[in-house]
Amino acid sequence: MKVFVINCGSSSLKYQLFDMKNESVIARGIVDRIGINESYVQIETEKGKYKIVKEMPNHSVAIQSVLDLLTDRKHGCIENMSQINAVGHRVVHSGEDFNTSVKIDKSVLKIIASNVELAPLHMPPNIAGIESCLKSIPHAPAVAVFDTSFHSSIPQYAYMYALPYDDYKNYKIRKYGFHGTSHQYVSQQARQIFKKDGDFKLIVCHLGNGASISAVKNDKCVDTSMGFTPLDGLIMGTRSGSIDAAILEYLSKKTGMSLTQVVDYLNKKSGVLGISGISSDFRDLEQASKDGDERAKLAIAMFVYRVKTFIGAYSASMGGLDMVVFTAGVGENSSLIREYICYDMEYLGIDFDKSKNTSAIRGSIAEISSDKSRVKVHIIPTNEELVIARETLKFYK
Ligand code: AMP
Repeated sequence: MKVFVINCGSSSLKYQLFDMKNESVIARGIVDRIGINESYVQIETEKGKYKIVKEMPNHSVAIQSVLDLLTDRKHGCIENMSQINAVGHRVVHSGEDFNTSVKIDKSVLKIIASNVELAPLHMPPNIAGIESCLKSIPHAPAVAVFDTSFHSSIPQYAYMYALPYDDYKNYKIRKYGFHGTSHQYVSQQARQIFKKDGDFKLIVCHLGNGASISAVKNDKCVDTSMGFTPLDGLIMGTRSGSIDAAILEYLSKKTGMSLTQVVDYLNKKSGVLGISGISSDFRDLEQASKDGDERAKLAIAMFVYRVKTFIGAYSASMGGLDMVVFTAGVGENSSLIREYICYDMEYLGIDFDKSKNTSAIRGSIAEISSDKSRVKVHIIPTNEELVIARETLKFYK
């Protein structure tokens, strides 16, 4: 039973082919620079890595190139397309139309297309990927797995913005949340580690280049830091996170930027990059901070402070806390950021273990709170592609 997982971005396409017998990855790769010059397709299997540079004007050609490579005698891993049993697509936005993954047919595709406005950069390539696969692998059921659906359990009082109610009804303006497949995967793993059934209050810190936090009560998401778009909430690599909305007009007047340019500025030029003036990458910031750079120190301090405030807020909103989990690039790899975040959190019941934190093995689950800590702290590596593969499998009969 093989599941092909596809994540289509505007100019790139990432894929993995899973053997679901043991959930192993038998091929993974990327097509990059789609629609730009020097596009290439890459595959990695047990035979090694292989790359072809070729013109790829659109996603349809990109997907066909991946399928050709997967079935290539020398570099591929399957004999023919019929060995692909199902296809899972990462789709960024479900709007309010789907609260779980869904098997794609014409009517589902139409509903997905009706939500393009909610994520205008991400949805068109997602749809192009789906349409191309439906043509190239027509025998395999196609499943849409949404970034937003894990957050569909957030109660209305938490997902509404205090704008006139009609703006929610007419324009679908509300908090949706993102990184849902990651929060879902990590929450399921956390429940297994917790071992007990019943009440479980969990905070998941997905700290990567994009960053978000979720409050998960009894396995259901009850709040998350990203909002109507992935710009909201935490300070990120290049994104500002939450700011006073009045700044947009003020910045526009001061700089002459249009509203569209200001939003782009908040998405691409802000965050820890904007504060430090050095980098969006925490490895660079940690080094610069060690070397005494004050703005790198400030960027790290602001990032950490924002995470702490969310942990405090979500503990309050859930009425307690049993576990905090760190995941994604920064959360899994930066012992320094984890230590700063958990510093002075004894009031919450966290007894952080510095030596466990620094000796945690990369890519593995690790407990980094002491044995006597009432609230447990863990590192759990995320695996969004595996969630998509598992969700897809549910629709294969
Ligand atoms: P992601 O978006 O989850 O792939 O995370 C990517 C980010 O993780 C990078 O931009 C870095 O900021 C961060 N990162 C990766 N490795 C490390 C590390 N060893 N130390 C600190 N930050 C890291």
